[in-house]
Amino acid sequence: MNNNQDNEEQTNNISENNSNIENNNIVVDDNNVIDEQKSNSNKKGMVNLALRKMPLKWKIILITVILGILLSAVFIIILIAPLMELDIIEKISTGNNRSSLSNYSQTSSNISYWWPIGSSETRTENGVTYADGEPVGYAVKSEFGTRNDPYTGNKASHSGLDIAPLSGDYGTVNVIAAKSGTVIRVNNDPTCESNSLNESCNGSGYGNYVEIEHQDGNTTLYGHMHKNTITVSVGDIVDQGQVIGKVGSSGRSTGMHLHFEVRENSIAVNPLNYISENNERPSATSNNVLMGSDSKQTICLTLKDNGYSNEAVAGLMGNMEAESQFRPNAVNELGCVGIVQWCFSLANELKTTYGDSWSNIDSQLDFLLHELNNDFPSVNSYLHGNHTFEEHTYYFCMNFERPGVAHCTDGVRRNFAKNNYEYIKNNCQ
Ligand SMILES: [Zn+2]
Repeated sequence: MNNNQDNEEQTNNISENNSNIENNNIVVDDNNVIDEQKSNSNKKGMVNLALRKMPLKWKIILITVILGILLSAVFIIILIAPLMELDIIEKISTGNNRSSLSNYSQTSSNISYWWPIGSSETRTENGVTYADGEPVGYAVKSEFGTRNDPYTGNKASHSGLDIAPLSGDYGTVNVIAAKSGTVIRVNNDPTCESNSLNESCNGSGYGNYVEIEHQDGNTTLYGHMHKNTITVSVGDIVDQGQVIGKVGSSGRSTGMHLHFEVRENSIAVNPLNYISENNERPSATSNNVLMGSDSKQTICLTLKDNGYSNEAVAGLMGNMEAESQFRPNAVNELGCVGIVQWCFSLANELKTTYGDSWSNIDSQLDFLLHELNNDFPSVNSYLHGNHTFEEHTYYFCMNFERPGVAHCTDGVRRNFAKNNYEYIKNNCQ
């Protein structure tokens, strides 16, 4: 607890120094400067007289004290202030909970970064571990930027967003890559404990951390992770949603949380410009979507690329053409949406997962493959089996689309499948 208080003190002193510097920089007009010079010369005479009368011993003490004060000021301004900027000195304040965040309305509509903490569950796909299940509840303990400290009202700077899980212990809650990219920095120090203010561990104040560079040139940084939980190394290529470690409190941190940064051109910016509660997502798929010249070609290329046979792709496409004519923005009178006309809870899940881009063909193919891989394992295993395109068409209709026997046997879907089968065999041309 003493450590916490010391940290608070440091922060406050620095804030005050900074505001003094700002005051000194205020430009005065010329008249004021002249007045100041006049009164300064009178004062100088009096000071000189006093100094001459002072014994040598006192002069030395006076000079030593002045030098000491000056050196301390230089130390604070040159050394500690930049560390604060970099959030090397971390401070957890009482936070707002999720409902009181006001920044969501300013969030860009073109979000492609995911919420960086998930659940404690994971699943493994092709050797890669993804966060699975519903994300745990969380509280934003500290927001980005200069803000008034809730205790003191003084200004303090913070280079990221502090997100604390509301359940789970050290080393259990998934930290996930907010976006695909390449790992560029890692501190994975087994001596870096998740206890209070461990300054001896490497990684500066961030403790155990990972930084990832993304294709848009931005980087994301994940700080204070629990020791021995980081699963990536420098140079690794990571998928969006991949688990890179677990939430802890290593480094200069006073409680379990993730310190999450987004940097544009190496400068930390407000993470809430990139992530939002609305685009948090528990799990990722590693599905590659191959974009074609139209939705039909994109569907065909992507399904083939994900390992489905020509017959299975024909069965899937026959159903999609009957449902939506391959239009990802198709919406029916019941509110069912997309290429396979997801209804009710699935339509909601599609929309909450992809936000404004739910009606994009790539979102829907990613969602379909995710559904098949995770929620419809028996349908998926049938589609990977050896069957005719007629059998695939009927099975998918009955077990995924479920419009009833009459629709599944009336030949409409089978005819679409038959026409698509030639197109699929011709490499989707
Ligand atoms: Zn922080």
